[in-house]
Amino acid sequence: KAKEAGRGTHAFFADSMTQQLRHEMELTRELTQAIQNDELFLDYQPQFDLESGRLVGMEALVRWRHPREGVRQPGAFLPVAEKRGLIRPLSDWVLNAVCRRIRDWTDRGLEFGRVAVNLCAQQVGDPDFGDNILTVLERTGARTEHLELEFTETVLIAADARTQADIVRLSELGIHFAIDDFGTGFSSMQYLRKFRTDKIKIDREFIQDVTHDAGDAEIVKATIALGTALGLMTVAEGVETEEQAEFLRRHGCRQVQGYLYGRPQPPEDIERLIGFGLESG
Ligand code: C2E
Ligand code: MG
Ligand code: MG
Ligand code: MG
Repeated sequence: KAKEAGRGTHAFFADSMTQQLRHEMELTRELTQAIQNDELFLDYQPQFDLESGRLVGMEALVRWRHPREGVRQPGAFLPVAEKRGLIRPLSDWVLNAVCRRIRDWTDRGLEFGRVAVNLCAQQVGDPDFGDNILTVLERTGARTEHLELEFTETVLIAADARTQADIVRLSELGIHFAIDDFGTGFSSMQYLRKFRTDKIKIDREFIQDVTHDAGDAEIVKATIALGTALGLMTVAEGVETEEQAEFLRRHGCRQVQGYLYGRPQPPEDIERLIGFGLESG
């Protein structure tokens, strides 16, 4: 009896594994096509200066308009893309699309600040990292001072001396660098010293309960203090309430990004936001 039950359980797991695998392979096939067929698109989430309230830039976030199932958020396809070797072509598509957008907005005289792009580990770890970025800028005619590159601490761990040199080279040309999800990876003071970045983005995980959780409050205060002491721009991610904004303002955080100020939105909506900003001052 027990043996039978055991076999049943085994069969059940094997079956759900097959299902999982089938789902993954299907998603991989669809995503490969999606990249080629321009089913991917970008929303842009605005970032504001906390003191003046002015728009300072935005982050590009990828979405997938599935032909039958509607819009999918990155959480639904990036993990599989990562696992199945599609994250690199996907992220290259995003970088190209952002640079084309920058070129278009520049040509139309819009003052949009910077557009931040999330880079994957394979882009940063590529021996031609620096040249690849410059090639995209050249091909699209986007200017370096409009581009910001974001990567996580985990990406930095794998970075070597060559990556370090490329970051310096791109920085000198006017590209900004931001460390994303700061505090959630293997944060090390060494990375902050070794890699020349301009910005740290305090992860939403710490902002979420910052007004209720004393521990989170101390972490956020310490992170802002560290960033400020090192001359880095500090940005809080996932700001949803006025209380969180007030806390951040009181402790000297410089910029904010979150639903309180604006959701990720289509470029046309961002253009209206820019127009509004210019009219009002
Ligand atoms: P991220 O780079 O840390 O992006 C911020 C995420 O927080 C976005 O989720 C954004 O929609 C969400 N967010 C912003 N403000 C709020 C808020 O006030 N409340 C809440 N609940 N969420 C907020 P999204 O768009 O789902 O992206 C998730 C992650 O997927 C990104 O985290 C990034 O790691 C990755 N990702 C997104 N687009 C790209 C891309 O183009 N390339 C690569 N390589 N990764 C991307
Ligand atoms: Mg990001
Ligand atoms: Mg983040
Ligand atoms: Mg994140």
